[in-house]
Amino acid sequence: MNNHLERACALLEELTPLTTDCGAVCDGRCCHESADSEGMLLFPGEETLLADTDFTVRPAAGGCLLTCGGTCDRTRRPLACRIFPLFPYVTEEGRVKAVYDPRGWRMCPLVRECTHVPLDRDFVRAVRRVGRILMADPACAAFLRQQSREIDDLNRLLKLDEERPPIARRKL
Ligand code: SF4
Ligand code: SF4
Repeated sequence: MNNHLERACALLEELTPLTTDCGAVCDGRCCHESADSEGMLLFPGEETLLADTDFTVRPAAGGCLLTCGGTCDRTRRPLACRIFPLFPYVTEEGRVKAVYDPRGWRMCPLVRECTHVPLDRDFVRAVRRVGRILMADPACAAFLRQQSREIDDLNRLLKLDEERPPIARRKL
């Protein structure tokens, strides 16, 4: 049982990046591409929360990878899917921010159009809160820090961190 992860997942039970269905615009691309990809990296301990689901979970470098068939019971979707296309980024000093995940740039129009399409403020705030909750769990905190440095590396090229942060956007 990982109470931190369960609390984090619960925060994003209902919230989505837009108040409308963003999948209607891109035909749910993140689900389709995830079904074709090697899988999504789970947060530390999340595999035990998903033990009774139909997902395939296997060990991999850096943690456990989950694969899906492109559809799922939304109430059991993993945290990576709930927070996409943002990530609870942790600065070198330990501050948590909700940032666009540059790893979603190719897949997600909300990332590519981040200067034009405001996200739902409650969603953005929930992603930041997820980060604060998970920072209280040592394994999840280490994971967030490691993933944030990976985001730093990608942003040296994509420079998404130079855009206005999503929390500054107005509510739709
Ligand atoms: S790829 Fe982006 S816009 Fe499309 S469904 Fe996923 S989060 Fe929404
Ligand atoms: S687990 Fe569900 S929400 Fe996540 S990519 Fe697969 S179908 Fe989409």
